[in-house]
This record gives sequence, structure tokens and C-alpha cells, in this order.
Amino acid sequence: MFKKILIANRGDIAVRILRACKELGISTVAVHSECDSNLMNVRLADESVCIGPNRSIDSYLNISSILSAAELTGTEAIHPGVGFLSENEKFARMVAEHNMKFIGPRPEHISMMGDKIAAKRTMKKLGIPVVTGSEGEIQSVEEAISIAEITGYPVIFKASSGGGGKGMKIANNSGEVANALKMAKAEAKANFGSNSVYMERYLAHPKHIEVQIIADNYGNVVHLGERDCSIQRNHQKLLEESPSSVISNDERNKIGEIVTKAVGEIGYIGVGTLEFLYENGEFFFMEMNTRIQVEHPITEMVTGVDIVREQIKIAAGEKLSFSQEDIKVTGHAMEFRINAEDPKTFTPSPGNIDELHFPGGNGVRVDSHIYRNYTIPPYYDSLIAKIIAYGKDRAECIAKGRRALSELVIDGISTTTDLHKKLLENSDIIKGEYDIHWLMDNLENI
Ligand code: ADP
Repeated sequence: MFKKILIANRGDIAVRILRACKELGISTVAVHSECDSNLMNVRLADESVCIGPNRSIDSYLNISSILSAAELTGTEAIHPGVGFLSENEKFARMVAEHNMKFIGPRPEHISMMGDKIAAKRTMKKLGIPVVTGSEGEIQSVEEAISIAEITGYPVIFKASSGGGGKGMKIANNSGEVANALKMAKAEAKANFGSNSVYMERYLAHPKHIEVQIIADNYGNVVHLGERDCSIQRNHQKLLEESPSSVISNDERNKIGEIVTKAVGEIGYIGVGTLEFLYENGEFFFMEMNTRIQVEHPITEMVTGVDIVREQIKIAAGEKLSFSQEDIKVTGHAMEFRINAEDPKTFTPSPGNIDELHFPGGNGVRVDSHIYRNYTIPPYYDSLIAKIIAYGKDRAECIAKGRRALSELVIDGISTTTDLHKKLLENSDIIKGEYDIHWLMDNLENI
């Protein structure tokens, strides 16, 4: 096992990784930008190194700074967390070239899945159903229109190297294609440095269902069931639950089998998530994330697997300690993302946390880095806490969630807490009857 790990991230996910390291007896190195020296993960780490100015590009995305910090501290492995460099092939390669272990998949799998067009092509070849659309990059308005005539409208243009719901534009008819394509290309270029976009049929009422997998170096691939992440705003997840109320045991086993077989065939190692749209009993692959996901705790709650701990053990060359037969999805879990933002407009609301009280008690888990009098800087993601509720069934989970959210106090900034409270009182949510469009369609009335 590693003796020392550097966590190349910040906030709640850095704390989560640090906790797994402590439990494994591994010492930790935190890296941070100038304004982040008072972060909880920095305070909890055994060592810390300032890696640059506040802008992410100068610090958390600064590969040479991070590698210098790692060399300086005698680090054996680097955990990239979520976002930032977690899906950066070059970073993964450079970590290996500096004789350290990148806690994630092989660089070639990061690049294969990072290009969403290549990822869809690979998965289709491996027998995984994909959303119908263009085979590759869209080259012209005419090409888009001729493909849309086959798939039918509406269609969605998506950035090939996209993420975070950016670079997506919808066209409802041929008259809207030129503008949607132009806007998607411009957004893709601005956010991801490439204007390559592809096109898919835009599904009317799908759910976002994703399957968590975990694979070791010895050919063992196990799936940990699914997460339903359909409650989204601007194509970004806000509330997730596991299991999904629309997926039967048979469907879970079937998609799990298809997915583990495909992942095994490409020789993927580490943790990963295959994201699907699910409509009328059919799964359509969208993309694979080659890293730990924000919403991993709900899977941990219903399977009892500590995913981050397993991820570190796999990187250290250990075998998976369980097989598919050992995995039983028991009970129900929900994650409520508490973001520092306006619950109606979703604009960020950084600032000082004047008062703070986190819930606890039976069936409640809190993953967070904030504390009383901590000032949230304006430079980074607005996620400040994840409240996770667990019950023996969905009804009990909702009751625990309501109770937990009622105890939560965060004063001084706007958060998404009240929105979650309202969601748990809504009859559609209580019945589990919602799709990916539900939140945006109902925002005014809840
Ligand atoms: P990103 O990597 O930016 O998160 P995804 O491909 O995962 O992009 O899509 C994000 C969300 O956008 C999905 O969860 C879904 O809500 C919506 N979406 C993407 N593709 C489609 C589609 N073909 N039809 C309907 N909704 C879609």
C-alpha cells in the first residue's frame, strides 16, 4: 500500500479522499491555491503545499506545480478527485513518467472516453445501445439536416470533449439547425478549446440512469448498481438517488452484465461510470466518466462498498475484495447537493458562512468541507455540501432526508437547501415520477 498520497483537488471531494487515506493509514499531502490555505482539507492533511494563484488555470490545473509539490513531499501516488485534472490524459501520463501512481484508469482509457464521439463508437461496437445520431463530428448544416431527417426532431448538438452540461444546443426543426450548430460550436470552443460537436436525437422524457463499475488489474469487473440523476438544472445534477424507482432487478442485472462485459473487454482498470438515458424500458449510452463521481456516496450507502478506498487499493495493485455475487443493493439512498447559489436563478452566491449546523443521526451522512466563518471564494465550483439520507426503503429515505434538511443551518449565503425541501414535499418526486426535464419544467410551481 502507498505510504503517502497527494490529493490534487479541493473542497468536499478532497476531504472525502483524505478520510479514505487516513483510514488506510496513508499520510496525505494537500495542495491549494493562494486563497485556499484555510480549506478544511488543507487543515486536515499531514502536509500542504501552495501551488499557485487563485485562478484554477494557475493552480489546480497547473500540472508542473502539482508535480513539483509531489516530488518535494516524496509522494507515491496522486488522487485527482473530480473535475480539474481528473480526466486529463496528459496529467495521468506525466504522473507515471515521474514514477508516481495516478489513482485512476490508464491514460489511453481517459482519452478514449474523453472524446465522446470515440467513446460512443467504442461502446456501440461492444454491443452497448447508444442514442442515435451522427457517427462522428458534424461538418455542415446540410449534413446535420440530412441525419436529423432519419433520427427525427428535436436533435441536440453536443461538444465532443464536453462536460458539465456545457456546449449543448437543441434544434426543434430544420430551421433551427444552423443557429443551434453555430452556438454549440462557439460554446464548445470557448469551454473546451475545440469546436468539434456531434448530434443526437433529443429524447423527450428520459431518465438519466448511470451505472457504477469498478475493475482491478486482474480482470475482475463488478458493477454496483445504478443511480438515478434525473433531477437536473441546466443539464447538471442536483439530487440523485439509488436505486432508481423505475429500474427492476432484472433490468439492473441485465444492464450491469452488458456494462461489465464491455468494460472488461477494453481492459479498463479503476472506477468508472457509464451514463445512459433511459426511456420506455430502453437504455441509451451517452458517455463514460473515468473518475470518481460527485454522487458516489449513495452507491456506497446501498452497497456498503467504500468506493474511494477500493479505488486506492486497486491503484496500489490489490485485488478486488468482493465479486458480483457479494453485491446486494439494500435500502435506498438520496444525495442532496447543497450549492452556494440562488435556488431560482442558480447564480453563484459566494461569501462568508456566518452560522452553520449540519444534521446527523441515524441514516444521515454529510460530506463537506465548510465550517462556521469559512468564506467561500468566488473562483471554484459552488458545491459546498452533500447531505446523504439512507433508509430501509424509499419512503423512509425521504423521511430521513426531510428531517436532515430541516436541521441544516447555513447562514450568510444563499443555498439550494430550500429547493431540496420543496422537492421532498412534491407528489411527483414522492412517487418517483420525474424525468430529466422535470425540474426545469416545474421550477416556477414548486
Ligand atoms: P456532460 O458531460 O456535459 O454532463 P452529458 O452527455 O452527460 O453531458 O449530458 C448531460 C445531460 O444532458 C444529460 O443527463 C441529459 O439530461 C441531457 N442530455 C444529453 N443528451 C441528451 C439527449 N440525446 N436527449 C435528451 N437529453 C440529453
